Amino acid sequence: LLASNIIGIVVISILVLILTRFFGRRNILGPINVLVHAARHIGQGDFSVRVDIDHQASELGELAQNINAMTEDLIRWESEHERADRELKESEARIRALFNATTDSALLIDTDGSFLALNYVAAQRRGQGVEELIGKCLYDYLPAEAAQTRKAWVEEVIKAGKSVAFEEERDDRIYRLRLFPILDHDGKVVQLASFSRDITEMKKAESRLKYQAFHDELTGLANRAYLMDCLRRTISQALTEKCYDYALAFFDLDNFKLVNDSFGHVLGDNLLQLLSQRLTAGISPETVLARFGGDEFALLFTHAADNHTILKELDTIHQLIDAPFTVGLYEIRTSASIGVVFGRLDYTSPDQLIRDADIAMYQAKKIRTGGTIVFDRRMHEIIIKRLNLESKLRQAVSQGELSLVYQPIFSLPDLTMAGFEALVRWLHPDKGYIPPSVFIPVAEETGLIVPIGDFVLKEACKQMSQWLTRYPQAQHLVMNVNLSGKQFFQADPVEVVRKSLNEAQLRSKNLKVEITETTIMENVDLAVSIFNTLRELGIKIALDDFGTGYSSLGYLRSFPLDSIKIDRSFVVQLDQNEKDYEIVTLIVKLAHALGMDVTAEGIETDNIIDKIIKCECDYVQGYLLAQPMNAHHAEGMIRGYPIP
Ligand code: C2E
Ligand code: CA
Ligand code: CA
Repeated sequence: LLASNIIGIVVISILVLILTRFFGRRNILGPINVLVHAARHIGQGDFSVRVDIDHQASELGELAQNINAMTEDLIRWESEHERADRELKESEARIRALFNATTDSALLIDTDGSFLALNYVAAQRRGQGVEELIGKCLYDYLPAEAAQTRKAWVEEVIKAGKSVAFEEERDDRIYRLRLFPILDHDGKVVQLASFSRDITEMKKAESRLKYQAFHDELTGLANRAYLMDCLRRTISQALTEKCYDYALAFFDLDNFKLVNDSFGHVLGDNLLQLLSQRLTAGISPETVLARFGGDEFALLFTHAADNHTILKELDTIHQLIDAPFTVGLYEIRTSASIGVVFGRLDYTSPDQLIRDADIAMYQAKKIRTGGTIVFDRRMHEIIIKRLNLESKLRQAVSQGELSLVYQPIFSLPDLTMAGFEALVRWLHPDKGYIPPSVFIPVAEETGLIVPIGDFVLKEACKQMSQWLTRYPQAQHLVMNVNLSGKQFFQADPVEVVRKSLNEAQLRSKNLKVEITETTIMENVDLAVSIFNTLRELGIKIALDDFGTGYSSLGYLRSFPLDSIKIDRSFVVQLDQNEKDYEIVTLIVKLAHALGMDVTAEGIETDNIIDKIIKCECDYVQGYLLAQPMNAHHAEGMIRGYPIP
């Protein structure tokens, strides 16, 4: 366009010159000079000149006008051209900036692999400048094998005519390479664009995440998700092959809470790590060992010959767990109760197996601590019964089906009345009385013991307060109330006791709480501190069921107690076993020396009570003297019985 314009200008200039010669007259020489001057300026690219000729009607005037119009056109054209040029440059700069800004290595090659363009990253990867590389061959910068592969990929893209992505490992790094074909008018691939990204870190992060998703952080064992995955595959394989020779075992440590409480969480964690290492080394490589959280573990035997083999392997597991661990400065012993379930045709999902292994483990804990229990379908019924009981018990608490009975306690040797033990009763609308030995353990497990315990304390305090108001001569009577483990450690027992006393307006000296040795042993330090607070309030404390649990005479000294209650199971043997008689005498002496009194529970015969009196026990309680009774009858006893 510019060229044709210039030609136009030159033609006009020549025309003007010819005209000048032709007209050679003075009156037209002035305007012609103006035209020549303008034409020269325009020819030199100065489009600002305008020809101002008066002769409107003359041809020269018309010519001048045309020249002016032409210069306007030229100005417009020039600015448009400049803009297009600028835009093109800008766009090119943007693309170059993008090309260089990407952290990918980007390059353009022809179909033979010669570099047509490279960005900085691409040049840097090859250790040379961009300019030096242009025209060189891509394949010369790759190890022979990689060059071969790359050539094959380029061929593939050329053949397919569409972009393809590849992954490439080189010098301990991983790259993701994408090749794009650039086509000519006929759709033939003439060049290729290649983008390559270093994805080493991403891959590492990915595999780290994958590891974390399937492993337990503390022990490095497989986790629940991993086990579920294996279990799913094992089940589906078993169903396809119609061979159900797999098994799932669950276990947790029998005393882990005690270890954590006595040695602290760090040592507890160490124990879990040592245990995991020992088990990993001891099991066959096909067996999957997973940590389910806390001290709970699972073992999946994917291919065991028969049940007998699995049980033998579990014996080995027991041995590994039972052998002592050296954790820090301590030697710690532990054991596990294992529940195991064997593969069966009707197991179709991991949840079913996990449920049944869990049930078996629960049974092991209950009836064979430190042993193995194989899942049995009848266990379902037990669980269902328990669930039923739980929901009924919830109802019982909210609908007031619970009540109290009171069993009198007598002083020795004259059998005057000393007080009562409050015992809870559940009168089920259809089933009649359900004994506390059945529902208290369920209440403990479900936490329902907390509202139940609150009820018992409040009711017993209220009752005692009422009796003491009615019978001023009975001010020395003491109401014994049982506190269970959960109630003792999970609720705030001091607060509950204080509130019950306040509400009932009962003095603290008329209340004694009974706690079993097993409860105290759950957390000795906390128990002692709660005892101290209760005693500061003037409340008495009795150690219940002595002789059934740890029966540690040594411990007695360190517990701030007022009384010991010797368990019935111990007392019933007294008339047959001379040794037991000696032991009871000793316990009584020791208790007295420590400032405690002793109650013998479960007195059923005259024989036994004679022995108990000889042992110098302080109090007795038992069917021989009085059964647990309702408040009305108990009140009758207070009225009619000799008061010291
Ligand atoms: P425990 O605290 O050892 O209560 C004594 C149990 O022995 C009572 O059984 C009582 O009826 C029974 N007993 C008393 N004298 C004799 C006797 O001469 N012969 C026989 N064979 N038994 C006798 P009960 O009321 O069935 O309570 C059983 C257990 O349930 C209690 O044992 C206690 O551990 C628990 N329990 C009862 N009431 C409560 C309560 O209110 N709270 C809590 N936490 N536990 C309770
Ligand atoms: Ca008791
Ligand atoms: Ca007892």
